[in-house]
Amino acid sequence: MKLSRKNLNERLNHLYDVIIVGGGAGGLSAAIYLQRYNLSCLVVEKGRGRSFWMQELRNYLGLPADTPGRELLQRGQEHALSLGADYLRGYVEAVTEETTEAGKSFAVRVKIGKTDSIYPVFRSKYVIAASGLIDYLPRLDNMQNVYDYAGYNLHVCMICDGYDMNDKLCGLFVGSEASINTAFVLNWFTPYITVFTNGQVEVGSEMRQKLQDHGFPLVETPIQQFLGENHQMTGVELVDGSTVKLETGLVAMGSRYHSEYLKGLDLEWKGGNLVTDSMCRTSHPRIFAVGDLKEGLNQVSVAVADGTLAATAIWRDIRRSSPPRRWEQ
Ligand code: FAD
Ligand code: FAD
Ligand code: FAD
Repeated sequence: MKLSRKNLNERLNHLYDVIIVGGGAGGLSAAIYLQRYNLSCLVVEKGRGRSFWMQELRNYLGLPADTPGRELLQRGQEHALSLGADYLRGYVEAVTEETTEAGKSFAVRVKIGKTDSIYPVFRSKYVIAASGLIDYLPRLDNMQNVYDYAGYNLHVCMICDGYDMNDKLCGLFVGSEASINTAFVLNWFTPYITVFTNGQVEVGSEMRQKLQDHGFPLVETPIQQFLGENHQMTGVELVDGSTVKLETGLVAMGSRYHSEYLKGLDLEWKGGNLVTDSMCRTSHPRIFAVGDLKEGLNQVSVAVADGTLAATAIWRDIRRSSPPRRWEQ
């Protein structure tokens, strides 16, 4: 059932088997499997996540290569709802552990509405952290100019879109000296790379030399705006008025991990990623992590498989601790 301000009170006394933070590829896959294992789950989704900005899902078996992320989300949501999952639009602020007479559980505090917000608390036996991350983009005065191209031919994921950059004039947009190293992987797809620091990065002499050796120009003048039309970026205008022609671009500026709500819990991290076992269980036995937030490849196919694994591990736990069902005749 779709929950909202109006009907969520019905669920405040319910102990869900699982609350899933994030209704992207990983979270929705977990919800579909959990419901088919006869477990109850609630998906909380804030909106505007990574799969929402994915204009085309290029490499998912069985789906056309121009399938928008929005379509995947819509179908996944409908599928999970049709199986009896609960779905709530809201932002998870905190997850805390509680011990009650019924045993151990989690309290999940959700902010609903960006204005006149309310803060209901839902409870569950397990939590799946499926909240992903969001890519940092170049900061320009006019962000709309960046959004016009980001996710179209200004890419953020080499694994997803390297193929589309084959032998093209490509801008690589970096936010640190270390991320310039992306150029030496990207050159598998194209050697026609120009590196842009937007005037924000100190570049040492060794890196300058390496770029020179590869023939990759380094542009340190800040960017005025991206050029192009109809979401197709064709170059960059710098603040000195000069322009650089491009056919595609890759942003490699790192990402913000959506994990603030887990900060009070003692979990094992590797950088911004949660460490898990092969079934997506974190260092906490009742918290699982799937998709981009967990260590591994950031791909829809991986997130979907992770949802399958996490749901199955949780079902095993709950099933094994439940009394057997008997046919009393
Ligand atoms: P997401 O799909 O990002 O889902 C996480 C969800 O959690 C989000 O919807 C977010 O809104 C929500 N959330 C976060 N914090 C909270 C909170 N506190 N409370 C409630 N909700 C929260 N992958 C491919 O395999 N092929 C491609 O072609 C491809 N192209 C891409 C193109 C672009 C432009 C981008 C940005 C990504 C692309 N990806 C592609 C990567 C793909 O989108 C991710 O790997 C995938 O979405 C990961 O799934 P996920 O469930 O881990 O995260
Ligand atoms: P969030 O991190 O989502 O939220 C900020 C705060 O708002 C939260 O801490 C929470 O307190 C509150 N909040 C959020 N959701 C809820 C909710 N459902 N209920 C209650 N409170 C809530 N941005 C654009 O605007 N337009 C674009 O066209 C665009 N294109 C992009 C393309 C790509 C490829 C990428 C990677 C990013 C793009 N972005 C775009 C930017 C981007 O995704 C924003 O960072 C994202 O939209 C997050 O939105 P937000 O500012 O609401 O931040
Ligand atoms: P397969 O898809 O079996 O592919 C292996 C291929 O290798 C086969 O096509 C075979 O012909 C070929 N092959 C084998 N040996 C050789 C050889 N020596 N030379 C050349 N070719 C060879 N999974 C789900 O996720 N959801 C479901 O709802 C679901 N329902 C199912 C219903 C049925 C009736 C069956 C049989 C399976 C179902 N599955 C379902 C399981 C799913 O089909 C498998 O998990 C999945 O196909 C595994 O993929 P695979 O690539 O490993 O193997």
